[in-house]
Amino acid sequence: MFRCEIVPVVETKFDSLPLSSALLGVIQELGYTQPTPIQAASIPTLVAGTDLIGQSKTGSGKTAAFALSILERISLPLRETQALILCPTRELSAQITREFRTLGRKHPGFTVTGLVGGQPRKAQRDALARGTHVVVGTPGRVLDHLQKRSLETHRILTLVLDEADRMLDMGFGPDVETIIGELPKSRQTVLFSATIPELITDICNTHMQNPVRVRIQEPKEASVGIRQLRLISRPDEKFHSLCWLLNKFPHNSAIIFCNLKKTVIEITNKLEKAGLSVGRLDGDLEQFHRDQILARFRNQSVRLLVATDVAGRGIDVEGLDLVVNYELPKQTDIYVHRIGRTGRAGSTGVAISLISRNDEKRIRELESSAGVELEVLEKGPVNRSDAGTLLRPLAHPCAMQTILISGGRKDKVRAGDILGALTGDAGRIAGTDVGMIEIQDKLTYVAVARSVSRQAVQRLNNGRIKGKRFRATLVETQEIDEEKAEADSRKKKSINSRASRSR
Ligand code: AMP
Repeated sequence: MFRCEIVPVVETKFDSLPLSSALLGVIQELGYTQPTPIQAASIPTLVAGTDLIGQSKTGSGKTAAFALSILERISLPLRETQALILCPTRELSAQITREFRTLGRKHPGFTVTGLVGGQPRKAQRDALARGTHVVVGTPGRVLDHLQKRSLETHRILTLVLDEADRMLDMGFGPDVETIIGELPKSRQTVLFSATIPELITDICNTHMQNPVRVRIQEPKEASVGIRQLRLISRPDEKFHSLCWLLNKFPHNSAIIFCNLKKTVIEITNKLEKAGLSVGRLDGDLEQFHRDQILARFRNQSVRLLVATDVAGRGIDVEGLDLVVNYELPKQTDIYVHRIGRTGRAGSTGVAISLISRNDEKRIRELESSAGVELEVLEKGPVNRSDAGTLLRPLAHPCAMQTILISGGRKDKVRAGDILGALTGDAGRIAGTDVGMIEIQDKLTYVAVARSVSRQAVQRLNNGRIKGKRFRATLVETQEIDEEKAEADSRKKKSINSRASRSR
C-alpha cells in the first residue's frame, strides 16, 4: 500500500516552489497569484522525480501542476520525448497540449506534440521525427505510434496518466498497460484521478515505486461518509414515503433495495408509469438483461435501479448518492453491504431505511451491531402531496442514452475505435456528447447524449469499425416481456414434470 498525504489547504506562494525564474515569469504574466492546493502539494514531489498519485478533479489546476514540473525537469537541448501524458479524450489532450505551450513559452525551442485519433498519422509522424520534448495523447493512437516505432521511448523520464479513472471507464486499460510495458523502468509515474477505485490501486501497486498520494482536504470533509437515516412509515404508506424521499434527496444515481422480487417488480412498474428513468434487477432476469441494465446504470442513462440483494451482490457500481432500503434486510452485513455503495470517493452519500413500527427492535439490533445510530427523518407537511405530484419533478428522461454495438473485445474493438467512429469525419459528433464506453467480450455499450443518439446509431450502422460492419441499436427500455418470461417459465416447468413422469 502507498503512503498517503492528505494535504490541508495551506497558504503557499509560487516563489517558494522549486520552479525556475522563467516559469515564475510566465505564471506572473498569466496572472496566477497563488498556487492551487494541488499545485502547492504536488509540485515539490513532482520536481523531485518521485511517483505521485493525485486525487483531484478538473478545475483543480492539476494540469499546470504536472506541466510546470515536467518543464522544470526536461532538457531543452535534447530534442527527444522526455515526458508522455496519456488522457482519455481528444479534447483533454488538446487542452493539455495548449497548457504546455502556454507555460513553456519562455523555454526556447520547447515543443509538445498531440497524438490523438481522427487526425492524420503522417503529420504526427513527421512531428515526432523532427523531435519533440513532450507527447500528449489518447492511448489508442499513442500505442499505434509505439507499435510502428514512430514514437521513441528510451528517453522518457515521466509518464502521466491523467483522468485515470475515466481512461479505465472508457476501456483504455489494456492499451495503457501495453504502453507502460514499453517505457523505461526508471521513469517517474504520475497518476491523477478524481476517484481511486480498486483498478487504479492495482495499477499503482504494479507500476509505481513508493508513490506519494496527495489528496486535498476539502473544508467539508469532516462530514464525509454515509449519512444514515431512517424514516418510519406504515406499510400501506411505504410507496408514498419512497416518492417523498426521492423528491427530497436529489440524486444522479440511486439504488432502491427490496427483499423480494415481487416488490422489485411492483415498485419498478409504479415508478416507470410515473415517467421515471428506472431499471429493475432481480435474480430472475437473464444474464443479458442484467448486464444491459447495469451498463446503462453505470453510464448514467438510467438513474434509478430497483434491486434485490441476490442481484445486488455482483453490482459493480460505486459512488451512488442515494441508497434506499425499501425493506430492511434481515442481516446486518447485508445492510452494511447495501449502504456501502454510496458515499465513496470523498463525496457524502445518503442511505435511508424505510421502517415500520414493528422494525424498531430490528433497528436497535442493527445499530448496535453496525456501531451506528440512524438519524430519524420526519416527512413533515409535504406528507399530504400525492405520489404523482412528488414524482413529477423527477419524471424527465436522462441526458444520456445507451447504444448497444454487436462487437466487443473479441472483435478487437477498442474504445478509441468507437470514439473515432462517432467523433471523426464520418461521425461528426462532439466528444463531449460521448460518455462511458464499456467494451465486453462480444458487445459494447456506449453512452451518448440523447440529442444525438439517433444520429449516432445511424453513423455506427453506416460506417465500419476496424474495417467491419457491426449492428448498433438504441437500448431504450429494459425490454423484458413479463408475460413471455412467465410463459417460458411455465413451459419449462411442464416439460420438466412431463420428463419426470415418464422417467
Ligand atoms: P485544470 O484543473 O488543470 O483543468 O485547470 C483549471 C484552470 O485553472 C485552467 O484554466 C488553468 O489555466 C487555471 N489555473 C491553473 N493554475 C492556476 C492558478 N494557480 N491560479 C489561477 N488559475 C489557475
